[in-house]
Amino acid sequence: MMTKYHILIVEDEPAIAEVLCAYCTAAGYSIKHFSSGQTVLAYIKDNNVDLVLLDLMLPDIDGVTLCRETRLFSQVPIIMVTAKNEEIDRLIGLEIGADDYICKPFSPREVIARIKVILRRAGNLNDKIIRQSGFELNMQKFNVTLHNQPLDLTPIEFKILERFLANINRVFSRQEIMDSVYDGFEEISDRNIDTHIKNIRKKITAVAADMNPIVSVYGVGYKMEC
Ligand code: CA
Repeated sequence: MMTKYHILIVEDEPAIAEVLCAYCTAAGYSIKHFSSGQTVLAYIKDNNVDLVLLDLMLPDIDGVTLCRETRLFSQVPIIMVTAKNEEIDRLIGLEIGADDYICKPFSPREVIARIKVILRRAGNLNDKIIRQSGFELNMQKFNVTLHNQPLDLTPIEFKILERFLANINRVFSRQEIMDSVYDGFEEISDRNIDTHIKNIRKKITAVAADMNPIVSVYGVGYKMEC
């Protein structure tokens, strides 16, 4: 079953908030609504938010500041909701990292249409490219760079690195790594995984001598720290 997209709605005007919540719910999204900005950052950090509808004028913190602060730790798509066209021009000029802008008064249908576009775009990007700590791993092209320099990995090394980059700080046992990279036909052993890890590390340090992001976890396996 597909999980519902989770939309965070930050809007202090009750009537507008009510409409946004109703339309998002009707469109099949799960929602959380805040009427002020103060708990927004903590909520985004602690929950899997897929998109934020962010009002520009809030009673406590302004939307621009919230957007900027969110971008320090998250690439969650943000649609700014603002009262005037002039504000939108100003926001674009500020390059605050929002993905889109909607002007009040808006048609709720239009809002849902924009949300769908942004979610689709974000989903496509996430599926194809992982960017993490200087690595850029493109799953469609099957290549990976570190600080823009190519890492010449074997297909198995590529799959191992992809698992690590998609799960920073998660400890993988050798068995889990084997299960995720082999298709079941090869004769393999624990030593084999250690050899692949050793080779990946060597290729990483050849590009960035001071980097050793893949860490051995004694008695368990490996994890990637960044
Ligand atoms: Ca407002």
